[in-house]
Amino acid sequence: MPRRVERVLVIGLDCATPRFIFGRDAFNLPNLQGLAEAGGWTSLRSCDPPITVPAWACMTTGCDPGVLGCYGFRNRVDQSYAPLQTADSTNIREPRVWDLLGEAGLTSVCVGIPQTYPPTPLNGCLVSGILTPQDSTSFTYPKSLAAELEEAIGPVEFDIAEYRTDDKQALLKRLHQFLHNRFDVAEYLIQSKPWEFFMMVDMGLDRLHHAFWKCCDPDHPKYVAGNPYEQAFEQYYTALDDRIGALLRLVPDDTGVLVVSDHGARALEGGLCINQWLIDEGYLVVEDDLLETKRLEDCVIDWDRTTAWATGGYVSRVYLNVVDREPNGTVPFDEIESFRNILTTRLADLEGPDGHSLGNIVQLPDQTYRECKGIPPDLLVYCSGLRLRAIGSVGYDSIFVAENDTGPDDANHDFDGVFAATKNVLVADAPLEPMNIFDVAPTVLDLLGVAIPETMHGNSIAASAAA
Ligand SMILES: [Zn+2]
Repeated sequence: MPRRVERVLVIGLDCATPRFIFGRDAFNLPNLQGLAEAGGWTSLRSCDPPITVPAWACMTTGCDPGVLGCYGFRNRVDQSYAPLQTADSTNIREPRVWDLLGEAGLTSVCVGIPQTYPPTPLNGCLVSGILTPQDSTSFTYPKSLAAELEEAIGPVEFDIAEYRTDDKQALLKRLHQFLHNRFDVAEYLIQSKPWEFFMMVDMGLDRLHHAFWKCCDPDHPKYVAGNPYEQAFEQYYTALDDRIGALLRLVPDDTGVLVVSDHGARALEGGLCINQWLIDEGYLVVEDDLLETKRLEDCVIDWDRTTAWATGGYVSRVYLNVVDREPNGTVPFDEIESFRNILTTRLADLEGPDGHSLGNIVQLPDQTYRECKGIPPDLLVYCSGLRLRAIGSVGYDSIFVAENDTGPDDANHDFDGVFAATKNVLVADAPLEPMNIFDVAPTVLDLLGVAIPETMHGNSIAASAAA
């Protein structure tokens, strides 16, 4: 297969939202908008659930969360009731796009991509992303690169600690520092290392959205006109666009550039206490007196009388307590289907405080994914279609709360993120069709003349344009 471009640069913007870059509330972003005007842009549909882990792993493998056996930041590792374990790079067994490029003799540089810690060997170099311990000295491949980076640009940052905080002033400053640190690393490597594939991810945009949405979006129900952080979004997006422009000036013209996000974002308007609902309806039984709210993990659960429990988060995962599957299962195996149907119907029909349907979306993993490796949830629940966050804590008088239980949070993720590309990536003058997160890896392979494995779910945009 011939190469269509000499090199590919992927600029990942975690949580980038079309509305602020190309849509109705777009800021003045000459570099991103110039790239899209000369090339093209469209929406990029995330995976289910639209969450950072596993979304970047889905994008870089072309496989869905079920095939990866990675359903969120934290996952069950067996059928016991043990606490969920945080996912890392070792959970991803499918080859990443840079593994396939490496087999074809091409060199990659990867910077700050979520779920790449601990670093694994590749033909090229890698700096790991969020979930890297801040004191780690083993955040690069090769290991010696860590000291080289410290020498060249100073300490490398991996995330914003405790971004769910009320100290917005300090947080905004840290966000901008983090942005510049990430692009300093990228600029250093893009000039000093050989590469045919370069991919970096800015994580600050996600933290910005969660921390400042209600300050910046007049449509947010908690927006207060004249608040001191009204310009926080515009300031960050503008600074980001400046750094993108500087990075683009460092790459040769024969580079194909893709701008991608792992998911979009939207205003978060409150929470649905999913475990409290399960308790109220008799599906989940805890022995605690629940005079105050507490995490479900801190409760004593009466598993012999429990049929279902759930995780909190931007999306909820519901698990059934199944006989001969879980240690103290109560739902007979041949009743899984009917019980799931009952829960699905009841959750989908759930009404809000105003008596109107909440519009909860319920997904069955075995109908959503090609296969379900690891320990999949039995249901995925998007509370009020992502308008509400799933609250995992218990001890509430009502199943509806105004605030998140793990700290202030103004935004939820949304399905549609951003895709933009330079003209040399596109094969037709027609506007880009909406894309899927699984299309990114095949597109990169196609551009660099490497065969697309059948295990990848998506299609190269070149192939879809030709079809
Ligand atoms: Zn994300």
